Amino acid sequence: MSTTPNSTERTERCTDCGRDTVHRVRVELREEGKNPDTAAFSREPYRISICSLCGVENALRMNNA
Ligand SMILES: [Zn+2]
Repeated sequence: MSTTPNSTERTERCTDCGRDTVHRVRVELREEGKNPDTAAFSREPYRISICSLCGVENALRMNNA
């Protein structure tokens, strides 16, 4: 049994499978931009969902207001 605290399973639409499948969902900070001087200031939270059927990963930026 995995004990990854920030990961949860949800049934969502998978665009690859074309139907609702179980996804493993977690939130991850990802660095944006290629400049190492500003990388520390450009970490954005992403919602990562991975389809358990086909393995495709979808990253959705959370604060894209
Ligand atoms: Zn899929």
